[in-house]
Amino acid sequence: MAASPTSSSGFEVLFSDLQNATDVESTLNVLNILDELLSAGTDHRIDYMIRKGGSEALLNALVTNGCGLSPNYRILLPILYLLAKVGHKDCCVGKKAEEAGAVLLTLNLLKNNIQHARRAAACLLVIRVFASSVSTANLIVSNQGQDVIYKLMPRYTTKNLQTIKASINAFAALLCSNANICSAVAKGYMASLLQLYEDWHSKDTTHSAMEIRHALLRCLHKITHSALGRRTFVSQGGLRLLYHTTQTCLLNKCLESLVEPSVQLMRKCLPKTPLPLTSDQSAYSFPLPGRQCAVCDVAAATDGSSGEIEEEEQEEEGCQEAASIDYDDDLETDLNKLCLCPDPDRPKELLPQYSRLCPELLHDFQELDSSSERSSPSSSSSSDDDTVLYKNVAFHFFGAERRQSAEVLSKTEKGTPSQTKSAAAILKAKDFNSHNGILSTSSEVGGKVREMRGEAKSGPTNDDQDNKEGNNNFYNCAMIDKLIERHGVSIPYHKPTMYRAAAIKTKSIPGFNILAFPDFWGHIPPTGNETMAPRKPSVQRQKVFEDIQRFLNTDDMVNQIVFDLEDDSSPDRPDSLRFFSRFECGNLRKAVQVRRYEYDLILNADANCCKHTQWFYFEVSNMVPDVPYRFNVINCEKSNSQFNYGMQPVLYSVRDALNGQPHWLRSGTEICYFRNHFCPARGSQKTTFYTLTFTITFKYNEDVCYLAYHYPYTYSALRTHLNLLHRSIDPAKVFFRQQILCATLAGNACPIVTITACPPSKGYKDIHQLRNRPFIVLTSRVHPGESNASWVMKGTLEFLCSSDPVATALREAFVFKIIPILNPDGVINGMNRCDLNREDLNRQWCKPDPVLCPTIYHTKGFLYYLNSIGRTPRVFCDYHGHSRKKNVFLYGCSVKETLWQSGSAVDTAGLKEDPGYRTIAKALDRIAPAFSFNSCNYMVEKSRSSTARVVVWREMGVLRSYTMESTYNGFDQGIYKGLQTGIGELQEMGMKFCHSLLSVTEDTRVLYGKELINHVNLDHNILDHKSHNCFEDDEPPCAEDIEYSTECPGLKGSDMESDINRCMAGTDEEEGVAAIHSS
Ligand SMILES: [Zn+2]
Repeated sequence: MAASPTSSSGFEVLFSDLQNATDVESTLNVLNILDELLSAGTDHRIDYMIRKGGSEALLNALVTNGCGLSPNYRILLPILYLLAKVGHKDCCVGKKAEEAGAVLLTLNLLKNNIQHARRAAACLLVIRVFASSVSTANLIVSNQGQDVIYKLMPRYTTKNLQTIKASINAFAALLCSNANICSAVAKGYMASLLQLYEDWHSKDTTHSAMEIRHALLRCLHKITHSALGRRTFVSQGGLRLLYHTTQTCLLNKCLESLVEPSVQLMRKCLPKTPLPLTSDQSAYSFPLPGRQCAVCDVAAATDGSSGEIEEEEQEEEGCQEAASIDYDDDLETDLNKLCLCPDPDRPKELLPQYSRLCPELLHDFQELDSSSERSSPSSSSSSDDDTVLYKNVAFHFFGAERRQSAEVLSKTEKGTPSQTKSAAAILKAKDFNSHNGILSTSSEVGGKVREMRGEAKSGPTNDDQDNKEGNNNFYNCAMIDKLIERHGVSIPYHKPTMYRAAAIKTKSIPGFNILAFPDFWGHIPPTGNETMAPRKPSVQRQKVFEDIQRFLNTDDMVNQIVFDLEDDSSPDRPDSLRFFSRFECGNLRKAVQVRRYEYDLILNADANCCKHTQWFYFEVSNMVPDVPYRFNVINCEKSNSQFNYGMQPVLYSVRDALNGQPHWLRSGTEICYFRNHFCPARGSQKTTFYTLTFTITFKYNEDVCYLAYHYPYTYSALRTHLNLLHRSIDPAKVFFRQQILCATLAGNACPIVTITACPPSKGYKDIHQLRNRPFIVLTSRVHPGESNASWVMKGTLEFLCSSDPVATALREAFVFKIIPILNPDGVINGMNRCDLNREDLNRQWCKPDPVLCPTIYHTKGFLYYLNSIGRTPRVFCDYHGHSRKKNVFLYGCSVKETLWQSGSAVDTAGLKEDPGYRTIAKALDRIAPAFSFNSCNYMVEKSRSSTARVVVWREMGVLRSYTMESTYNGFDQGIYKGLQTGIGELQEMGMKFCHSLLSVTEDTRVLYGKELINHVNLDHNILDHKSHNCFEDDEPPCAEDIEYSTECPGLKGSDMESDINRCMAGTDEEEGVAAIHSS
């Protein structure tokens, strides 16, 4: 002991002393010094000791002193305690113990000391440490380790609790491999563990053995890591036992800590339940050009009953890791890819066709001469004649091989939409006219709704007159007029009759012929604010309990299918809600009445696909008023949702609407979103689904209500809106032109709108100024589930057509080209993410297929055209909705910021980059209360290389190319802080975006110029923008675990060090006889 113990060689000296000590006292002396050094030191000291060979030295000492016939426990106990302390931090201690021959020796010591609580406890601590290596654990189990340890796990007692706890923890530690779990299950230890848990639960009335109960739960968690364990848990009555013990735990605050681990254990063991569907494929399929039929490549059900879910869970963890891969790794750091524009994806010769989309450049404005003869909106200046345009489109856009589809298109336009449609589409759903019972038949309201939306018959349509409101072709026009007169509310830019006329032309896969009332009738924002819903503590726990009850108590279960999109035959049950979703944007595939007032709802996957469920929109009726109904959307796919952070779905009551309150209202209580036990009907059981649950209490009994994920905005609503906008403008001042960019796969028109100012005269100077205005290109709704984007776009369109001085200035400064719905087919058919070709259209921009992605192909073609005539847009912005964040923000593109953020070694000093990409965000920061400057970012991610934003920036050279993301939920900053967004706030954002464009004007002819920015500038003080870090997770971890993981949270008493110290102190473990398991 010459060297100072803390010097670099101190430990080595001590180890050598330990090895060479010949008498008990000097050995004890060394062990005491080691223990004191470790007790006083930090983890660093233990790590240092391990590096210096501490584990090996202690293992050798153990073997040396433990192998005799009557080992000296005065020496052995300190060695075992030290070994537990050090080995606990040494990830290789199991291997080292095997090499030293210490594993079976320790097990032997345990066997010989079963009657001796203190010695047994010391051995158990070391065995637990050894079991951190799977091979060591297997070695112990194959030498009857489980049986030896189990003998020390007695029924309820008040004696030797430290030893009992050490044995249960050692037993749990051994359950770390499939083989050991199998062994334990085969030996019947599942039943034993459950009995033990119940025994301790019922007899530990003073709650003094909480740590034992936690340790037993830990054993149950470990043994249910494998599929076999989970099945055995359920078959041995584990669910019922845990459910009942947990219910009593809920009644006593002292037992609260047992509740969460029990709930997670039950959730984990709930048997995987396939969705009650015959196929995971969408109920809607549409034949794609050049393909026989639409089939989704579903991963076949591979994991049968033999599959060990251990792997599954590991895989899932892997997935989560992959999802949370360092964001920086996704950043594009290849300077060539960042800076060099790739070759165009098509020959130049294909570009001139797009000249027709710039009517303002060709128009001669002759009408400006005869100012008395204003062109009426419905006259020839309107380009809304789809028939003509379709022919035009067909002629221009389709080669010979596409002639056929072009003919279908023009035929469709000529008059027999549904027939042509059925020729073009596989119509899975049949005979929609037979649907009559969906609305309460005794209901006055239901009757009115049916009359109004023309459910009985949809009359023949005359295409040429489709825009004429009051079209006499509608059977019940007079009735509609009467009802609107009696109950209608003036809704800006909405007219039910026009909506109906537009909707009749809309082509859906199933051939919708019923209108959802809210879209038809219209709606206005409610007066007053809608704050975010407070989350009730433990709401999720309560819902999960109800879900577990489904497996225990069948008495109150109804389990009846009450709505099936693919099967009309389900009988009308007077005691059930009635559901309906076969209308534009509708999405509900199946409704199952689970209990008297509880329904499981299954959403329809995107057409031609078996995925992307999130958006919902359906009708519900036949309700009992003032009764809380629980709704569970059981096949959501996203791993978290703003529904956990204050967001509510929206509800529309027809009765309220007829009473002059046509509002979509944020509704629902007891809302939460969590992982459930369902899996696909046919697909892989590894797929995880989430439940969105909410409770609605309806006000009226004779009502028809609609529920949706977010404020719906249909394609027909857009068509109506554009027609109304066109009528609203002063054609002498506003140049407004609606054209068809192209036809979609299903034969719908994709409108493109031009808005600019008419020149003050047809003089050369004025025409010249018009023809040199920079372009602004805006698009939205490429993702059909993002209806919020459409409301923002509606705000933009209305503002640009308005007489506001800023709007006037913007029209004089720019030519706006707007494609408000890039994915009409997806929107119409109630899809969430994709187009009919089952692709995310916002990942197709690099090389869009002209046949399968026509809207993207032609939007990109139009941008190429603008480039080719030297008119690269000054701004491009694609409006989106964001499901996981609050507020509104922009994503842009910057080479420098991407390289900086990625930590790339590329020297950016020589790189020149126009900082103008930040101008608009800075302006919005000042003027738009919904906007969060700090949530914006300008990184170019590899995973986004084929999005509109990145392609338009890189290939078209548009400096200001953005994605604008709007929240589904609400705001956590500024004057809207704490509020959910309504359509008012979304439309305002669309308007504010226009305001911000003043910041990129250069034309001195814009008279108002910078003063206008002041004109729209809000008082900066009210914009209290909280700082956000865009790279961080948007939300704090959820109050309750959405997932149930393999490691159970909140299991107490697993702190190894305190266990060792208490065993060493040996307060309650005397040298007496351990309580041996009696059974
Ligand atoms: Zn999107």
